[in-house]
Amino acid sequence: MTDTLPLPAVRGTLTPFRPLADLTWLRVGGPAEWLFQPADVEDLSDFLAALPPAIAVFPIGVGSNLIVRDGGIPGVVIRLGRGFNGIETGDRTVRAGAAALDAHVARKAAAEGLDLTFLRTIPGSIGGAVRMNAGCYGTYVADRFVSAEAILRNGDRVVLGREALAFGYRETFLPEGAVIVSATFRAPSGDPAALEALMAEQVARRDASQPVKERTAGSTFRNPSGASSTGRADDSHDMKAWKLIDDAGMRGARRGGAEMSPKHANFLINAGGATAADLEGLGEEVRNKVFQSSGLWLEWEIMRVGTPAGN
Ligand SMILES: Cc1cc2nc3c(=O)[nH]c(=O)nc-3n(C[C@H](O)[C@H](O)[C@H](O)COP(=O)(O)OP(=O)(O)OC[C@H]3O[C@@H](n4cnc5c(N)ncnc54)[C@H](O)[C@@H]3O)c2cc1C
Repeated sequence: MTDTLPLPAVRGTLTPFRPLADLTWLRVGGPAEWLFQPADVEDLSDFLAALPPAIAVFPIGVGSNLIVRDGGIPGVVIRLGRGFNGIETGDRTVRAGAAALDAHVARKAAAEGLDLTFLRTIPGSIGGAVRMNAGCYGTYVADRFVSAEAILRNGDRVVLGREALAFGYRETFLPEGAVIVSATFRAPSGDPAALEALMAEQVARRDASQPVKERTAGSTFRNPSGASSTGRADDSHDMKAWKLIDDAGMRGARRGGAEMSPKHANFLINAGGATAADLEGLGEEVRNKVFQSSGLWLEWEIMRVGTPAGN
């Protein structure tokens, strides 16, 4: 890594060698070669247009689905903040900035009698939710999505519809280096008090079954097979990753500071002092053990990004 990249001038904040651990839920990983926090959409677009094409760009949300490796991320990491977190409601529609938190969007929508309750228990941002086709309790972003506005790697501002994003199970097709800046959802109408009550019930259910107070990144591995264009079929599939991990005897397994949660076997946690290598190494050990016991290879759902230490 070098701090001499020829970077364009910006109105937001550009920070060299910015540690990323405190910007992720797992609290591990090395620095971004540069961290860019744009002031607004124009700042982001001008920056990307002027940035030499050979320099890699990686957008992050609030890091709730990421292991950043210990050597950090080369190039420019882009994190949206103020200026990208507005939420507007309309006639059965909600438009939210990519930095808005899913839970805030769900609550604001509910207060206006609009049902995006499925977002309430997902701890990410709207940019991350669209990118990951996030979903909970049987509803996915793909079910409510209208369009997203994005800035492409060359600085062009585009609107992407559902065909362009080609939603799959916990994934979408997003051009390399593109940054989502806002998304519009269609929301069924509902009674605000009933929607609030439903969300409270969902939060209680989640708190009872997941280690949400821990340093984790949610489900570590996808449930095997059954993926569909909305992802729904996958969650209804009998073969659950947590069950395969349990059967392989890996619930509670540890490596360094990394642990497979005793509360939910498919949640990898930083139990204290873990490195990214501990977490990824334990995850790979789980994959091997599950293969030995079931003949199935689990696929990572958590994204692992950046370079290992020493590279
Ligand atoms: C306790 C816990 C519970 C969870 N429960 C669920 C759940 O029920 N359902 C579920 O689907 N997920 C769940 N997750 C996983 C995670 O919250 C989701 O994947 C979430 O959508 C990630 O959003 P983020 O903002 O944290 O994105 P990040 O983790 O920061 O990034 C994830 C991906 O999105 C991309 N990205 C982020 N922002 C942008 C942007 N503006 N433009 C382009 N790309 C972008 C990143 O490049 C990366 O590829 C859970 C995680 C935790 C920790």
